Amino acid sequence: MSIRQKIRFQSLFYSIIISIVTCLLALVVFGEFSIDSIFNFNFFLLFILCLIMVYAIGAFFVKFFLYNSVKLISDQIFKSDDRSTITTNMEDLLSQIKEYDDERKFEISEMKKQENFRRDFIGNLAHELKTPLFTSESYILTLLDGAINDQEVNKKYLKIAGKAINRLNMIVKDLDLITKIESGESEIEKTDFDINNLTQNIFEMLEISASKKNIKLILDHDDNLPINVNADNEKIQQVLTNLIENSIKYGKENGTTEIVIQDLTESKVIVRVTDNGLGIEEKHFNRLFERFYRVDQSGSRNAGGSGLGLAIVKHIIDAHDEKIYIESDFGVGSEFSFTLEKSAI
Ligand code: ADP
Repeated sequence: MSIRQKIRFQSLFYSIIISIVTCLLALVVFGEFSIDSIFNFNFFLLFILCLIMVYAIGAFFVKFFLYNSVKLISDQIFKSDDRSTITTNMEDLLSQIKEYDDERKFEISEMKKQENFRRDFIGNLAHELKTPLFTSESYILTLLDGAINDQEVNKKYLKIAGKAINRLNMIVKDLDLITKIESGESEIEKTDFDINNLTQNIFEMLEISASKKNIKLILDHDDNLPINVNADNEKIQQVLTNLIENSIKYGKENGTTEIVIQDLTESKVIVRVTDNGLGIEEKHFNRLFERFYRVDQSGSRNAGGSGLGLAIVKHIIDAHDEKIYIESDFGVGSEFSFTLEKSAI
């Protein structure tokens, strides 16, 4: 038996019982009831008339009040909802409540996820800021305590404090950038430009840091003609810089970083940044683009990054509606590649 049938059956049963009892009581009160009159035809007629009247009035009030109560409940539950039909049908109402309950459960689980994400994010941020803040504070206090007059250490301490402040600055700048991309404040402004040329410019900028580890920067693409893409020049410069910087940071001495730009489809190119450095184990792949995620917590931080480099890269590529891929062999090297739209001309 469905819920609807059950409710109907129960209400019919109880209303008949209540009507009979009410009729009998009324007849007793009005002095029409006696043992002899039970078998009287007139009494039977009166009883049936009374029963119909009580049942009709009862049914009307029950329906009226029940309808209003159910409507009130329905209104209350779906008040802030844009459901257009408010029902007093029990089965519909129950299914609507279930649907509503499922939606709320989903919302609560999403809110919990966001809350966890927020908590992790603040924890990570505090952790990242703590070390450079503590370093700069302690070196400056040591200088103020008298080390400023010690010619042997004063410059060294100032340099260390300066480096720590520099690192703080880098973290805040990266955070600012990522927030702007995420909030849509920093919009993607696409223009046509030569990605080949852009890569060469970035190589020039990173030449010194690459030479410190004797890492060779190589640009290779099918033929040496310009490759015009349609993208946000400044942001793609940021993507390439972050990837090349990482290939140097996590690259081996005397290693190579190679950029290969190839046609992928009629309308897309793929840019590959390959190094023969430390490599990354596969288990880290799906978390690599999270903010502050590091493969080797101590080693990576020593390399000096903000922990936001790849998160920024992913945000920029996503904002372009393009894809980023990673392939890596631990101990052999890594390849980060991303797609871009070719310019129409
Ligand atoms: P970080 O500021 O620590 O470099 P990123 O977001 O740029 O932060 O990178 C996240 C982590 O991914 C790094 O800490 C490093 O462990 C790993 N990683 C990134 N690029 C490479 C690479 N080319 N080779 C090896 N490991 C890499």
